[in-house]
Amino acid sequence: MKGAAHSWYATSAQPAPEQPRQAGSERTDVCILGAGLTGLSAAIELAEAGYKVVVLEAERVGWGASGRNGGQAIFGYSCEQPKIASLIGKDDARKLFDWSLEGMHLIQERRAKYQIDCDWRDGHAHVPIKPRQVEELQAWQRDLADNYDYPLQWWSREQLREQLASDRYLGALYDANSGHLHPLNYTLGLARAALARGVKIYENSKVTALRRGNKPTFVTEMGEVHCDFAVLAGNAYVHGIAPELDSRIMPVGTYIGATEPLGEERAKSLIRNDMAVADVNWALDYFRLSSDQRLLFGGRASYSTLEPPNLRGTMLRRMTRVFPQLTGVKLDYVWGGYVDISLNRAPHWGRLGQNVYFAQGFSGHGLAATGLAGRIIAEAVRGQSQRLDVFAKMQHRPFPGGRAFRTPLLVAAMAWFKLRDALF
Ligand SMILES: Cc1cc2nc3c(=O)[nH]c(=O)nc-3n(C[C@H](O)[C@H](O)[C@H](O)COP(=O)(O)OP(=O)(O)OC[C@H]3O[C@@H](n4cnc5c(N)ncnc54)[C@H](O)[C@@H]3O)c2cc1C
Repeated sequence: MKGAAHSWYATSAQPAPEQPRQAGSERTDVCILGAGLTGLSAAIELAEAGYKVVVLEAERVGWGASGRNGGQAIFGYSCEQPKIASLIGKDDARKLFDWSLEGMHLIQERRAKYQIDCDWRDGHAHVPIKPRQVEELQAWQRDLADNYDYPLQWWSREQLREQLASDRYLGALYDANSGHLHPLNYTLGLARAALARGVKIYENSKVTALRRGNKPTFVTEMGEVHCDFAVLAGNAYVHGIAPELDSRIMPVGTYIGATEPLGEERAKSLIRNDMAVADVNWALDYFRLSSDQRLLFGGRASYSTLEPPNLRGTMLRRMTRVFPQLTGVKLDYVWGGYVDISLNRAPHWGRLGQNVYFAQGFSGHGLAATGLAGRIIAEAVRGQSQRLDVFAKMQHRPFPGGRAFRTPLLVAAMAWFKLRDALF
């Protein structure tokens, strides 16, 4: 999988001094596996509350999904609210929704407080391709307005066409609060804030085991860290540290291409109001403009851990299906990453025993939710677990088929959803 190092984000990232490798034996109050948005969010909250915090990162800060994603920050979670209501009831589903807005707000709060320059732009549109999807989006709009006091704008095809130069879509559900940013620069900004608050971040320090008990210990390749509380924030990239968590998510590859710079006029002619856009197919397309006037176009899920053949050609085909006027434009960068899909696509956050916390199952919808997850885990470490307990009420089943067969079974299930999108 071509990862963070091959991305446009990596080439446009702010400088980030390399952090040391963990070695020898040390002690801390809280030790966090993973320097992505979840781990860093928890680290900042805990350091600000006076805890000694160590973060262990197998690669570099932001190397995982946090530094390579589509940059689209959207309210809610990957699954829709009715799904959450069916799992934990309407009242708690309402709480989760309101907290998801807190996750959105947290991005703005942290950008301002830690002075993180990450190219934030307002506006996001979910766009339908099929009449069935128009009905689904309008039903979603009614549900959000009636049950969650969250009004979104419905745009007709003509209204959308004024902002987006594509004939592919039948309208849009537009949210002015959602938006997009440079995810690697945002993640690096959080790391800077964490370091400034005394958090120790170790890079190139893979955790090889977690010994649980009264005082958990993370074992790394060259040492170990003893702590009072352990946090697992390794997302789809962690494996073998907590088997009961591994079996409840599935790594799914998703890919992004960045065009050559299009120039201000041409870029603006594609997305006049500079919003982010995502269609609502199961294997969706999502796109936005970068600060240097490229189109960043995401899509093409793969349900095995192999990179799809002719990825660049596929991405170009998908992009020109949306914007035929970009035929002949080159993709300067193509990269991918894994999202951590849970079986019901609901977030899977909670506690193992008394002192090991985790957040996974963002299912491709984590930019805002990760900040919230880190904050809620930090609250629980501080003895206020009411909010985490609401999330932990959601039951998550393991993927059927175990490790050997879950991929083929998922491929079969996804093939059905893709076929459904293609046919109806
Ligand atoms: C291509 C792509 C596009 C996406 N687009 C969007 C989008 O537009 N909007 C949105 O909301 N969400 C999107 N997502 C999802 C979002 O990026 C994730 O939900 C979010 O970044 C997860 O953050 P995290 O901190 O939990 O995990 P990560 O950022 O993946 O961090 C986990 C870290 O743990 C480290 N790690 C793993 N195992 C170990 C170990 N054994 N020892 C030490 N460290 C370890 C990894 O190296 C990694 O750095 C996308 C994801 C991808 C891959």
